[in-house]
Amino acid sequence: MTLLRSLLWVSLLCLGTSLFAQFAQAQSELSRLLPNIAAGDVVEGATGFGRVHDDLPVVQVLRDQEQIGWAFITSDFVSTTGYSGKPIHTMVAVDDAAQVIGVQLVKHYEPIVLIGIPDAKVKALVANYRGLDLVAEAESGGTSHELDIISGATVTIMVIDDSIIRAGLKVARQLGLGGLAVEVETGPRFEIDPDAAAADDWMTLEGDGTLRRLSLDVGQVNAAFAAMDDPRAEDRALTEAPETTFIEMHATLISHPAIAEALLGEARAANLQEWLDEGDHAVAIFGRGLYSFKGSGYVRGGIFDRIVLIQDDISVRFRDRMHQRINGIAAEGAPQFNEADLFKIPADSGFDPTEPFRIQLLVQREVGAIEKIFTTFDLGYRLPDQYLRSIAPPTAPEVPASVTNVTTQSESQAHQALWKRIWADKTTEIIVLGVMLILLTAVFFFQNIATRNERVFFWFRMSFLTVVLVYLGWYANAQLSVVNLIALFNSLTEGFSWQAFLLDPLTFILWFSVAAALLFWGRGAYCGWLCPFGALQELLNQIARALRIPQWTLPWGLNERLWPVKYMIFLGLFGVSLMSIEQAEKLAEVEPFKTAIILNFVRAWPFVAYAAALLIAGLFVERFFCRYLCPLGAALAIPARLRMFDWLKRYHECGNPCQTCAHQCPVQAIHPTGEINPNECINCLHCQVLYQSTAQCPVVIKKIKRRAKVGAAPDLSRDISGHPNQPKTHPAT
Ligand code: SF4
Ligand code: SF4
Repeated sequence: MTLLRSLLWVSLLCLGTSLFAQFAQAQSELSRLLPNIAAGDVVEGATGFGRVHDDLPVVQVLRDQEQIGWAFITSDFVSTTGYSGKPIHTMVAVDDAAQVIGVQLVKHYEPIVLIGIPDAKVKALVANYRGLDLVAEAESGGTSHELDIISGATVTIMVIDDSIIRAGLKVARQLGLGGLAVEVETGPRFEIDPDAAAADDWMTLEGDGTLRRLSLDVGQVNAAFAAMDDPRAEDRALTEAPETTFIEMHATLISHPAIAEALLGEARAANLQEWLDEGDHAVAIFGRGLYSFKGSGYVRGGIFDRIVLIQDDISVRFRDRMHQRINGIAAEGAPQFNEADLFKIPADSGFDPTEPFRIQLLVQREVGAIEKIFTTFDLGYRLPDQYLRSIAPPTAPEVPASVTNVTTQSESQAHQALWKRIWADKTTEIIVLGVMLILLTAVFFFQNIATRNERVFFWFRMSFLTVVLVYLGWYANAQLSVVNLIALFNSLTEGFSWQAFLLDPLTFILWFSVAAALLFWGRGAYCGWLCPFGALQELLNQIARALRIPQWTLPWGLNERLWPVKYMIFLGLFGVSLMSIEQAEKLAEVEPFKTAIILNFVRAWPFVAYAAALLIAGLFVERFFCRYLCPLGAALAIPARLRMFDWLKRYHECGNPCQTCAHQCPVQAIHPTGEINPNECINCLHCQVLYQSTAQCPVVIKKIKRRAKVGAAPDLSRDISGHPNQPKTHPAT
């Protein structure tokens, strides 16, 4: 029983949570974010927000109670996500000419780009949109304005730009701003035909629908009150015979000239037209029986409280000044009525005479000294077709095809168009990266040849790292980060989408290359060759060496004990990301990449001081950050265990007795026993240069000497057996 109750509670909780989630989703971003936005921050000189539109999540922007535009949140209209895989909520205000009058970034989760970008730059970007003509923008295919790219925020800026234009055009079309209009009625449209003729006798008028009737007898009315479940109403039932006429009410649209003439006669029909102002209409209501549709309330209150005209969401209550009595019916054979009245329908009520409407009759019954209960009956009316004529649909304002393309394309088409545009914009960078990757692959595959000449290889490597730092890093901002991994994991748990990843082509290509390279060479392909911050450390260290700054070699035991620190940092970040992505992204500032590479050191001093401290440490201990602190390096090292090949050649003598490579490895990745630690190796290939060095490698020197004796060149490709780094399957030589 307890188990059953617990299950019930859990189900209710789940149901409640899911309902709440649906409710929260159904809420617009505008209603969620509006309370925290000041109109003056979005639009210069605005004094507040007005009413929210009935059908769209857009709100009036007011200046001294006067509307100067509409504001909306882009994510209510388009679903483009940013670099983080989450929407960037931007408030945009547009005026009646579909010109942007204000933009404000309201909420975003862009971790790697916007945190740290000076506020002034963001404000300048935002100000750049003021005056942007959305229609001209769509017509020009998105080229009528200069995109103010902020270094390091390219993708985010392009996403914001795309959202502003697409959402702005959608709003403009739906509100009919800037001469755009979306509502084009395609069905037939009608208007009153003033030349139509009406029959001159009551029976024909009733028969062809010109007059409509509501007939209620006492029995029907008593039954209606009885059904109201109030015994007092039944107690006060009318005592007349059930078939007695309670009310017989007729109605017609008397503002049609032919109907007016048929029922009122020529002279009074003319009077009626005089009584009506331009656009006004009128109904005539005739009644007889026990019940009066006028009652007597209008005498005291000036309002006819027993009838109301209803058309869709329009209701018109008639006041005494909208009323005239009909004295005599001209149509032949008209019955005798107790009441015959005209009621004016004002033009500003929105009434459409060509559409159906109903006269609602309120029937009341006294159930106490001053207490009444009510029920209603409807008299439906539709002006017969004979009084109407069809009209050509209004020609819709010309909407440029480019605007229609933008506003009618699906979100997935828009996302595709955006990432394709970004890829096209970055063609040069993509080609350069492609060439670099091909070159690097060739170096790895032909490492024997590449490392044969120490000097050539050294300068090749320095040049390659310089291009990586200056072009890939500082210019193209292609710096991978542990934040990418956190975003990937987050997107896997929340519904993976390629869109967010495709938005940054260089990062996308780099990650794919790194994933493939991990299987062949481990983390070294990236850390040793493609990481801009790694390149910066190494180049600075080379300068330090040239300046004879002493290099510190950490005792092996300490070096080994410091390695795990970076894994702890990575796991800590990963753990925090499970609870809060935002927090993890903030803590990921342990990577100095944003400061040193993305923002070129133009940032708040604590960040700059931190990055500088790491680089200074790297002057004495080469790649200090890579060795002990980098969470990305750690993340790449974990799958490095999966790599399928050992490319780095070793001699039997490596480690015992020779320690040359171990001493010269820039990251101390070679154990004193000679094995290379693949988790720490950055594939700089320096040990492969030494492997062939006729000046430094004692094995090669010995071989040269031996060969010199017998007059043959040494075989440098000889493999060694039993060395820890070599496959066990190799036969001993
Ligand atoms: S360890 Fe980190 S900083 Fe160093 S090269 Fe690798 S990714 Fe770059
Ligand atoms: S010297 Fe050899 S072991 Fe050391 S990092 Fe370079 S390639 Fe790896």
